[in-house]
Amino acid sequence: PLVLGIESSCDETGVGIVRGDQMLANEVASSVEQHVRFGGVVPEVASRAHLQAIVPALERAFEKAGVSPDELDGIAVTSGPGLVGALVVGISAAKALSLAWNKPLYGVNHLVGHVAVDLLEHGPLDPDSPTMALLVSGGHTSLLRIGNLVDDIEEVGTTIDDAAGEAYDKVARVLGLAYPGGPVIDKAAQFGDPTAIRFPRGLTAKHDLEKHRFDFSFSGLKTAVSRWVETEQAAGREIPVNDVAASFQEAVADVLTAKAVDACQRFGATTLLLGGGVAANSRLRGLLEERTAAAGIILRRPRPGLCTDNGAMIAVLGAQVIASGAAPSPILLGADSGMPVSRSYEAPAA
Ligand code: ATP
Ligand code: MG
Ligand code: FE
Repeated sequence: PLVLGIESSCDETGVGIVRGDQMLANEVASSVEQHVRFGGVVPEVASRAHLQAIVPALERAFEKAGVSPDELDGIAVTSGPGLVGALVVGISAAKALSLAWNKPLYGVNHLVGHVAVDLLEHGPLDPDSPTMALLVSGGHTSLLRIGNLVDDIEEVGTTIDDAAGEAYDKVARVLGLAYPGGPVIDKAAQFGDPTAIRFPRGLTAKHDLEKHRFDFSFSGLKTAVSRWVETEQAAGREIPVNDVAASFQEAVADVLTAKAVDACQRFGATTLLLGGGVAANSRLRGLLEERTAAAGIILRRPRPGLCTDNGAMIAVLGAQVIASGAAPSPILLGADSGMPVSRSYEAPAA
């Protein structure tokens, strides 16, 4: 199916157009520079930016794709999770277009979109290779057993406190680096020694594994980095920013990859699929490659440019939903800031 996808859950306005798992256009406008001085996304500012960016992004996407609206089989839009005021902009645009063009509307899950985006690069999931997904984004960190992307996703583990991306953003602040922290820490770490400081690996102690074998915790790591930096500063020593960044990044990548491989083995998954903004991280990608290869697991990871928020990930998930024969979402579709990852799309009320 030919599908338009609209994403506005956070600070990226994304418009994508796909045909099945072929990407025809992926236009992204980010308001990130407007949030830098606040050290985080300001919801009101993000909403305003979406309102300004959405129509130009739509126009560019149709121009790039070389298709016309009357050819569309459906319009997919992120209905959650995310910032309500930001989601509402994309949802309102999608509803207006659905009514104007008489095309079915599908409210889909942003997190499942992060997982589905890999189809654009590596094709459909192999039904003969059970799949586990490691979803690592700004607000979420989970291990997901994927039966199929439309109606069979089970969360087998998740973070009990901070998300991986949140930890990156907070540690960057402690180190005096700019927001968002992920890309800057990734860069600084290239010049640092990952073995310089041994930071804690959350929920990997024996007694933690009993209850939290597939869960994550990054708040202790963040605190450990803060304490280490404060102690050094109090002693009048200069902070080796690159070493701290590399050592922190190593702790995050180590625990994410160890638990992901363990979950594959426990649940009999032979494919591991990586998704979410933090999936752009170079060390995570490298270590995951090593450890999945050693365990005989097939690794699927989208290129870094598709890991962060975009419209194509929403369009490709919409294409999956449409291909499954699912009924469209109601035109009264709302924004669901807490939409669970187990719900890929908003089905009409029974
Ligand atoms: P969610 O998807 O959970 O709703 P979000 O959409 O805000 O949250 P994403 O766009 O998926 O988050 O990812 C943004 C996060 O990814 C930020 O925390 C950012 O620091 C992190 N990130 C981006 N690039 C990298 C990188 N190279 N290394 C580590 N983290 C990164
Ligand atoms: Mg963003
Ligand atoms: Fe996201």
